[in-house]
Amino acid sequence: MSVLVVGSTALDSIKTPHAENPRLLGGSASHAAVAASFFAPVKLVGVVGEDFPRRYLALYRRHGIDLSGLQQVPGKTFHWSGEYEADMNHRRTLCTELGVFEQFTPRLPPEHRRTPFVLLANIAPALQHHVLDQIERARFVMADTMDLWLRIARPDLLRLLRRVDAFVLNDSEARQLTGRDNLLAALRHIHRLGPRYVIIKKGSHGSMLSGPDGVFLCPAYPLCKVVDPTGAGDSFAGALMGYLAGAAGPVQRHLRRAMVYGSVVASFCCEGFGLLRTTRVRRDQIEQRVRELERLTRF
Ligand code: AMP
Repeated sequence: MSVLVVGSTALDSIKTPHAENPRLLGGSASHAAVAASFFAPVKLVGVVGEDFPRRYLALYRRHGIDLSGLQQVPGKTFHWSGEYEADMNHRRTLCTELGVFEQFTPRLPPEHRRTPFVLLANIAPALQHHVLDQIERARFVMADTMDLWLRIARPDLLRLLRRVDAFVLNDSEARQLTGRDNLLAALRHIHRLGPRYVIIKKGSHGSMLSGPDGVFLCPAYPLCKVVDPTGAGDSFAGALMGYLAGAAGPVQRHLRRAMVYGSVVASFCCEGFGLLRTTRVRRDQIEQRVRELERLTRF
């Protein structure tokens, strides 16, 4: 089964304590779509400007990503720039230039409207609603978000939580949304806002899933060196959805393993700038890390 990914398609300029890289392929949808493509066919919905390099379109295509829902319009591609501290769990946004995103209305081609797995990657909640309004039938819908929308679009986000099966956010966003420091209390609080499944990501400390089967603690794959964590959260969500779409049977049965695959693909993402490492990974390398993670955590 296939996955529909909607989110930002961006050019990212990233600065770490060790290096700086301008105008890399980035955006929540780019990271998520490439990560999902290891496991299932992917359809990408987004918008880019006329400055979007052709080699980036070729890169999506090399991953078999269906681009019929990607609009290319006059104007500049969304540009985001961020800087990491020595502790790479912390970063600062230097600039966000919306460009063609300012006028963007996602339009789903008719054949996209019945995609069984829908990932609403990080983008303004109003646009996530707009996509959901066009979906005719989906098996599983998951939404991601970021601190900005909790600050400036909270009512839209709260309304969205009542429309999705799963919601994924990071620990600081969970605290910001619920006002609770304790993550178990935050999970419970978020369930009351709507979603049946809630996933809290904790950067290099792993992630937590809460659902009808209780809580699952998923480790992060331990890395000796993190080059650039940008997009790790999006890769996690993309790989998770891709894995679910590729697995037969009920979602509930596969969710824990899907989180482990998410964790592993996110670890590859952190090993290179932007998508440089993720786009060179092979499926057998993913499987090897999954086995390693299994050995590391079994007791
Ligand atoms: P993550 O590191 O998982 O939080 O995701 C980083 C990605 O989010 C980068 O590739 C950015 O292009 C993208 N991004 C940053 N700010 C925004 C925003 N306001 N809306 C949508 N995407 C964004």
